[in-house]
Amino acid sequence: MIIGMDDTDSNEGMCTTYLTAVLINEIKELGNIKGMPHLIRLNPNIKYKTRGNAALALEIEPGPGNDKSIIDTATSLMNEMADLECENTNPGIIFLSSNDINIPGLKNEIEQFMYRAIRDVLTINDVDSLIKKYHLTHSRFKNGRGLIGALAACAAVVCGLPDHTYELIAYRLLDNFGLPRVIDRGSVFRADEKTYPGTWDTVDRTNNTVVCAPHSPDPILFGIRGDDINAIKQAFSIINSEPVGLTLLYISNQGTDLHLVDASVHDIYDERSYKVNGTVLDIPKTISGGHVFFTLNQTGCIECAAFEPTKGLRHIIRELIPGDVIRVCGGVNNGTLNIEKLEVVKLATHQKTINPICPSCGKRMKSAGKGQGFRCKDCGTNSDTVIKLPVKRNIKAGIYEVPPCARRHISKPLVRSSDPRAFPSR
Ligand SMILES: [Zn+2]
Repeated sequence: MIIGMDDTDSNEGMCTTYLTAVLINEIKELGNIKGMPHLIRLNPNIKYKTRGNAALALEIEPGPGNDKSIIDTATSLMNEMADLECENTNPGIIFLSSNDINIPGLKNEIEQFMYRAIRDVLTINDVDSLIKKYHLTHSRFKNGRGLIGALAACAAVVCGLPDHTYELIAYRLLDNFGLPRVIDRGSVFRADEKTYPGTWDTVDRTNNTVVCAPHSPDPILFGIRGDDINAIKQAFSIINSEPVGLTLLYISNQGTDLHLVDASVHDIYDERSYKVNGTVLDIPKTISGGHVFFTLNQTGCIECAAFEPTKGLRHIIRELIPGDVIRVCGGVNNGTLNIEKLEVVKLATHQKTINPICPSCGKRMKSAGKGQGFRCKDCGTNSDTVIKLPVKRNIKAGIYEVPPCARRHISKPLVRSSDPRAFPSR
């Protein structure tokens, strides 16, 4: 049986991963927990998401006659733990039996549903039609929007992920919920030092920040992400902190870029995320607050932005000039693409035009008017000679990214890339 859950959290506290950890504790006697729980990040650009837009699924092989107890335990735990007071919290839970999974067509259909939940905008009707069609066991709280993520997370278990990473989450003891987190900062930097790049996004060295511990009042103490389970466990053992309650290792689509789709500028919609090729049309400008904007030209134009929290990526973007061939990745809101990653494919061999020196008297000549060449103000000599100087570039072709402190959960850190042109931000 696969149990998928979503939308139990709010900005006030709960977190669906914690519900999963508690649930596993409660049902492990009722069957065999199979594999790792799946932590699936859905479309990060959607408006009504809570924080990270995470959905969870786990697989259990029920002991004889235990199916109903498992379903009842999970449903009542969700009822008890979800933050139902919060207006935007609409939990949902789905139970897929092994019989369900074998219904012809289901696998295919829920896999497509998963990709849409990660890349597109789905409605409760979309999930309800599948629940009805396949008679799926489920529980809905309030409007049940969480059923969308619940089914998507089930699909990740049934169909697998094209790329995956891991996260070990350490939860706080119940008594410490809501209190300031006690984590020895130096030990977190040491853990990163010892285990990077097997782990990543533990700290942000450039911005001198701990990234692995949230600031919100949720039950998570910290989470170590990476590709290497041993490195993750080593990092966990190095970190000194307040006492840890439950810990759980998840398989995840975090750090995979699964949310991005290739698109042309004519095929771009708000609340989705894209990879777009084009050339820089104008000189990037910085507005108050430190946000940087420029226009990307393809067969049409789109505005691109790097907001202040993207920190160092803005320094790269400010070095772009018209004619640079680039590829940008990011989510679109109000018609503007917010850059998560920037590939400088080819720097423009752009040249700066300057007025020539007068061949007769050696003074700098002035423009004689548009399209009329140059004239020397001193001696009246005319000239058509244009002098072009190469512009000195302070960036190289390559792939750049936001720093760890600004990264979305689902965005792939460049340290995971084998592309030799990548400049990982650490
Ligand atoms: Zn002259």
